[in-house]
Amino acid sequence: MSKIKTISEDCDILVVGGGMAGTGATFEARYWGRDLKIVCVEKANIDRSGAVAQGLYAINCYMGMQWNENQPEDHVRYARNDLMGLVREDLGFDMARHVDSSVHLFDEWGLPMMRNKETGHYQREGKWQIMIHGESFKPIVAEAAKKSADKIYNRIMVTHLLMDESKENRVGGAVGFNMRTGNYHVFRAKAVVVAAGGASHIFKPRAVGEGMGRTWYAPWSNGSAYALPIAVGAKMTQMENRIVLTRFKDGYGPVGAYFLHLKTYTRNGKGEDYEKKWYEQTKKLVGEYIDHHPVPTCLRNHAFIEEVKAGGGPIHMVTTKAFQDSHLEKVGWENFLGMTVGQAVVWASQNVDPKHEDPELTISEPYVMGSHATCSGAWVSGPEDLSPPEYFWGYNRMMTINGLFGAGDTVGGSAHKFSSGSFTEGRLAAKAAVKYVLDLDDEKIEVNGKQCEELKEIIYKPLENYTVGRNEITAGTVSPSYLLPIQGLQRLQKIMDEYVGGISVNYMTNENLLKRGIELLRILQEDLEHIGAEDYHQLMRAWELKHRALTSECVAQHTLFREETRWPGYYYRGDHMKLDDDNWHCLTLSRRDPKTGKFTMEKAPLYHIVDKKK
Ligand SMILES: Cc1cc2nc3c(=O)[nH]c(=O)nc-3n(C[C@H](O)[C@H](O)[C@H](O)COP(=O)(O)OP(=O)(O)OC[C@H]3O[C@@H](n4cnc5c(N)ncnc54)[C@H](O)[C@@H]3O)c2cc1C
Repeated sequence: MSKIKTISEDCDILVVGGGMAGTGATFEARYWGRDLKIVCVEKANIDRSGAVAQGLYAINCYMGMQWNENQPEDHVRYARNDLMGLVREDLGFDMARHVDSSVHLFDEWGLPMMRNKETGHYQREGKWQIMIHGESFKPIVAEAAKKSADKIYNRIMVTHLLMDESKENRVGGAVGFNMRTGNYHVFRAKAVVVAAGGASHIFKPRAVGEGMGRTWYAPWSNGSAYALPIAVGAKMTQMENRIVLTRFKDGYGPVGAYFLHLKTYTRNGKGEDYEKKWYEQTKKLVGEYIDHHPVPTCLRNHAFIEEVKAGGGPIHMVTTKAFQDSHLEKVGWENFLGMTVGQAVVWASQNVDPKHEDPELTISEPYVMGSHATCSGAWVSGPEDLSPPEYFWGYNRMMTINGLFGAGDTVGGSAHKFSSGSFTEGRLAAKAAVKYVLDLDDEKIEVNGKQCEELKEIIYKPLENYTVGRNEITAGTVSPSYLLPIQGLQRLQKIMDEYVGGISVNYMTNENLLKRGIELLRILQEDLEHIGAEDYHQLMRAWELKHRALTSECVAQHTLFREETRWPGYYYRGDHMKLDDDNWHCLTLSRRDPKTGKFTMEKAPLYHIVDKKK
């Protein structure tokens, strides 16, 4: 331990994670906080980090208010419908009213936008999506953040938040380690914006063994966005609302451009339109929600799952018609080359030419996110002018810990933000964080050396476990006294898969399964005290796993609490198979006591701010 160098940095605003929300936050913090010290710390390298790393073909959230295409109210209605009624409308509206300005910045900064030749407007892919050549998207927003920050730290994984010792319930910064040098980094900060993405690989993926890592969601998104605040007692919301996606099989290539722009459609193994077959059955589960337009994402998944269970698979995307048009064929391929090159490679390796053969689709394993067609995450204050009292406690996007803010996948209740909305939410959070810091005036944050030294011991313990434990190995590589990150990860995925509604049980769970699953997750977390890491890279894997495990327990607790099946197609509570608006037209909240590790659950009211309907 004495060999590990400690590097300290004191700042006003610390941004954890330099993805879409983190770059937005860093950029905006400088705009409002000209003289403040702003630091962004990123696990990878912000030029190519986060879910957008490879590039995107569409910006999925743009109102187009300048051309009267959509208004923020329309987006609230859309997100509310897709999430089966349950969203924080104050947060959604707030994001939507500002998102266009972010997109205009991207345009100004040189992002190649496609234009409609007749109107000159941005080329629409769908009602909310506009098409871009997105390979340069991440480097462009990274440049804005680099020009704004006092310092960007790459290759540092943040493992814990620091708490102020002079005042209860107030954040004081964060600590982590550099995966290349091994240095221990202490960031004391007056305000922290957590923007660390969502959580993949908490449920067992479809691709295992040599294919592991091939998931829809970025494999490096490890739930730090949730684990960091959960660990210090911040409230979380809607963590049961995991997302499951219909995507091209094995490469997880996106289907949005295919459905919306190429006008392709799905068919079962016999070439039949299977979705309508499941209409009556779905209506019995969710009532009139099945008649909504567009059909909520989870309900379309539901028809897919039921059809495959009934023997109607494989499900295909009918591409052969659209691909006869050479322009659409080009768009279809470009769509992958711009953001999911792997799908094109999978098709090439499996002899699939979508011009002559309709490719297979799959339903993914579940992921936890706050910015896609799902809204798990931290419970944050909304904006002053919109939020009812239960949703407002002072600073926009501040969690229930003073000075701790969130944006993008971190924030719960506000679905369908995507890349542009997450960047925008980062900007909103940073603007409020600047105000918070300025309001503190010269009040000091106290984080003493003891807190930092204790965390240092904890962080590097897996290296120690390995160094000591490997001497006990008499043959092979399995130690009697430590487990490796990959072993712990696979155990976590198995528990989540079998007990919390993963792929091998067709997304089904119930009270008994969840209670047992939570017991097993607790035992796993105890055992993770004995995780061993042979180098700094494995140390990162160890901490990624610990964050995943904590996030998973929170997901399981929420799933146990909500006694209904609100989103069939995302997961099913077998003991409460129907949507129950009388009892569960509400948001779920959890808080984990940092001292005891015990979760407490409660309901929060759901307010319909747009249209004021219940
Ligand atoms: C497969 C896929 C396809 C998508 N397609 C589209 C699309 O076509 N159009 C669109 O508009 N949106 C799309 N999205 C959505 C968009 O990518 C996300 O909404 C957006 O990236 C979320 O922003 P974020 O900042 O919350 O997370 P991210 O952009 O993922 O950033 C999180 C950052 O935090 C860092 N980090 C994580 N843990 C730590 C830690 N412990 N310490 C330090 N740093 C950490 C990560 O390295 C990463 O850089 C897609 C998302 C996915 C997963």
